[in-house]
Amino acid sequence: MRNLISATVTDVHHWNETLFSFKTTRESSFRFESGQFVMIGLEVDGKPLMRAYSIASPNYEEELEFFSIKVPDGALTSRLQNIAIGDEIMLSVRPAGTLVPGFLLPGKHLYLLSTGTGLAPFMSIIRDPFIYEKFEKIVLVHGTRWRSELAYQSEIENVLPNNPYFGEQVREKLIYYPSVTREDYVYKGVCHEGRITDLIENGKLLANTSMPSLNPDHDRFMLCGNDNMLQDLMTMLNERGFSKANSRRMGHYVIEQAFIEK
Ligand code: FAD
Repeated sequence: MRNLISATVTDVHHWNETLFSFKTTRESSFRFESGQFVMIGLEVDGKPLMRAYSIASPNYEEELEFFSIKVPDGALTSRLQNIAIGDEIMLSVRPAGTLVPGFLLPGKHLYLLSTGTGLAPFMSIIRDPFIYEKFEKIVLVHGTRWRSELAYQSEIENVLPNNPYFGEQVREKLIYYPSVTREDYVYKGVCHEGRITDLIENGKLLANTSMPSLNPDHDRFMLCGNDNMLQDLMTMLNERGFSKANSRRMGHYVIEQAFIEK
């Protein structure tokens, strides 16, 4: 197909039995904004089988990185989970998406709220030095069912704060808040359990991160994850006076419109 290019797998990492990440080569002409997604896939029965994937790597990296679910009978991921270094995947040439910081009104605090593989676009954003210029604090919340699904912890806690170019800004501005719903989880001596919506409603998220009350004057949100979480959070934000951005108007929060419309 004319709009598809091929990329070679350069690394594969399995987090557990349901999640894996992989890296591929990147053509120098392939440009994207942190937070965008692209169609990726494999050739099956002589035809491309493509699915939308958020790009997890920052836009300055030479390689592309993706963070994927393994759906047991999923058309693509039942195959994709078996890829190995040296294999070829297909990639659409045009990244797209509305989950980009550029649609947000200027603000002081950025909340990146994710569940499951919804962390992927935020891994791109928190590895982009640009975001630390735009906000005073960035709170990354990753909600999962199980502890083993808290992927990228070491990257967030150890690698990123030691980045030679912007590690200092990361140490000063990035707050990581993992939360688990189906088993006990104590993180740095504090109970980190519960759904993101509950953590906001009961005040725990703000109390545990020492952040002030939510206020449309200075707080901005990016949301990515399962549909129920997106719907609940949008209702909660709308009730508190936050407005959703769209491609024509900047707002207090952004979502990936393609998630909602699929
Ligand atoms: P499908 O037939 O596509 O899905 C089967 C079922 O599995 C779905 O109905 C759904 O219930 C469930 N499912 C699918 N994807 C997920 C998921 N990520 N987490 C939990 N349950 C899921 N998936 C990723 O793994 N990583 C990403 O970065 C990612 N980014 C996306 C960005 C956009 C804009 C959209 C619309 C989707 C994104 N997805 C992502 C989902 C992805 O497109 C596929 O659905 C997924 O790879 C499974 O493909 P499949 O063919 O194996 O199963």
